[in-house]
Amino acid sequence: MPPDVCQLPLVGGHPALDLANTLERGGSSPHDFLSDSSALLRWSVLAGVISDAEADQVGRAWGDEPAAAQAGLVAVRDIREGLYLVMLAVITDADGGTAGDPVAARAALVALHQRWSSAAARARFVLDPSRVRLAYGTVPAMLVPDRIAEAARDVMLNADLTRVRRCPVREGGCGWLFLDQTRNGSRRWCRMADCGNAVKARRLTERRRAARPSLG
Ligand SMILES: [Zn+2]
Repeated sequence: MPPDVCQLPLVGGHPALDLANTLERGGSSPHDFLSDSSALLRWSVLAGVISDAEADQVGRAWGDEPAAAQAGLVAVRDIREGLYLVMLAVITDADGGTAGDPVAARAALVALHQRWSSAAARARFVLDPSRVRLAYGTVPAMLVPDRIAEAARDVMLNADLTRVRRCPVREGGCGWLFLDQTRNGSRRWCRMADCGNAVKARRLTERRRAARPSLG
């Protein structure tokens, strides 16, 4: 059985990249950790997108109106897919090429902008003691997709996109996205403890196997 969404390590360095990693894309049977609206709600708390108190509000709103829960899940999956396409188009590999499709990425940007402008239309200016901020997610049923639309905008406009990496699939990595926050930009694996070491161990076994004299 695949692990629960709450066991997913958050390695993205930004909630929007962690969101992209909630869909296991490799292999013959992709697995969606956001399997239903309750998984989405639990993940949103885990990733810091909403607070526990907000999760209670959303849970009540979604409990009263299952169609809104479904719409929220659909919106989040849509943002996740769009963001993934955009990130693939900005990530460059060692040869300076990109794995992404710029046409698909541009179409995704249009859809992401629509999601974000709907979220912005529901946002409110809030007076904090000494500043004014824009609060996203004033409508409980739409709180999760609105925060996620804003997180997607934030990573696209405010993160250093030259630092977005994908755990190298061709070398046995898992394909997860993350922001490389090392000083010299040398991070290759999503998690050295898992992907990096697993690949190294596999290579060592292969080398040993190759070195062993054939008995046939
Ligand atoms: Zn990995």
